[in-house]
Amino acid sequence: MALTGIQIFKLLPKTNCGECGVPTCLAFAMNLAAGKAELDSCPYVSDEAREQLAEASAPPIRPLTVGSGDTAVKIGGETVLFRHEKTFFNPPGIAGRIKDTDEGIADKAKKWAEFQYERVGLNLRPELVFLECASGDAAKFEAAAKAVVDNSDLSLVLACEDPEVMAPVAKAMKDKKPLVYAATNANADKMSAIAGELGLPLAIKAADIDEAIALSDELTEAGHKDLVIDSGARDIAGLFQDQVAIRRSALQQQNRSLGFPTICFADALGTDMGEQVAAAAMLIAKYAGIVVLDDMTAEAVFPLLLERLNIYTDPQRPMTQNEGIYEIGGPSPDSPLLITTNFSLTYFIVSGEIESSRVPSWLLIKDTEGLSVMTAWAAGKFSGDDVGMFVKKIGIEEKINHKSLVIPGYAAAIAGDVEEELPGWNIQVGPREAAHLTKFLKEWSPG
Ligand code: SF4
Repeated sequence: MALTGIQIFKLLPKTNCGECGVPTCLAFAMNLAAGKAELDSCPYVSDEAREQLAEASAPPIRPLTVGSGDTAVKIGGETVLFRHEKTFFNPPGIAGRIKDTDEGIADKAKKWAEFQYERVGLNLRPELVFLECASGDAAKFEAAAKAVVDNSDLSLVLACEDPEVMAPVAKAMKDKKPLVYAATNANADKMSAIAGELGLPLAIKAADIDEAIALSDELTEAGHKDLVIDSGARDIAGLFQDQVAIRRSALQQQNRSLGFPTICFADALGTDMGEQVAAAAMLIAKYAGIVVLDDMTAEAVFPLLLERLNIYTDPQRPMTQNEGIYEIGGPSPDSPLLITTNFSLTYFIVSGEIESSRVPSWLLIKDTEGLSVMTAWAAGKFSGDDVGMFVKKIGIEEKINHKSLVIPGYAAAIAGDVEEELPGWNIQVGPREAAHLTKFLKEWSPG
């Protein structure tokens, strides 16, 4: 049961030393109760209090990691029902299903691992293979797992309900930290022993939520902390209802039995990729930990990756690009120099247009706390003084032969102030729309 801020406060040292980043223990307690602070921020909590507080301040849905390396996926750890209340933290893993009886497993894994897209400075990609043992043969299952890991960096969900088959393959793959899928009513004790011995996360496969609760309690009792729930739903309405019920129960009723991330099967709806993508899109929004597709194609995966990016960005904080000098297309000292704000979308659009103009250019990104050009200008974060001082401090003068700076068309009003701050510079007003940058750059001269 979660503790209130006052209950937490009673367990803190009450010295108001401020080392946790807020001035008082009471403020820290309130933040902790609201899930806005980490207990580790206070170095003076006694061990006894830490034990009580750790339990009380643990996220209602346990965070855990499936996989290793670049494709390790941290799932769970969510604290809200709706992202506008705070944010969603850990994007669901996207998995494609491969059966160990399939032909061309290595090629498939290789192809899926190449579905990588750079957007707003992030690398978007699917992370997992849901490897199903359809053969019932441990050697074949292990060979398929090896084909995946030897030919891709994708992480694994090992899917087999026969403990005799699962045991050697899970052992062989243990360094890849696969998810062991799944413990059922029939095999829970044996699957629990395999996952427990190897320190791997374990999925529960239940017929419904009641059965999931019973299995979760049994496995938690046996010492498993890293559980993933498959509620058994295999139709769109059931998937939606179960996901919402599990999230609500964990968050609003503090039901620890359901306080785990989930695995959901969009491919249970059939082989039509359109329907699978629609189901997966719903599951990404509400509230899957891992979504399994029957196949992965670029046109199926790309929109899901973009949706996942959008749903799992903090709605209270604009996405930003790091302040700095960006070289686009290998600019020389005579190339044009432009400046804009650090709103990710602005950066993404402007840099994309410069790239497609094929005119190598220097792009300065100024920190405006993630505001776009007009908003930043209106808020006084992209004023002439600011821009001028930024150009001086960033060190661009050492990289170019001219003193010409292109400011965004929407910030034309600051041109005079920038000139005052940068005597000897030629301040040019660029186009208002990024789409017109190509023509502008092709005709550009330092003046
Ligand atoms: Fe209180 Fe700990 Fe924060 Fe110091 S660091 S103010 S003792 S909660």
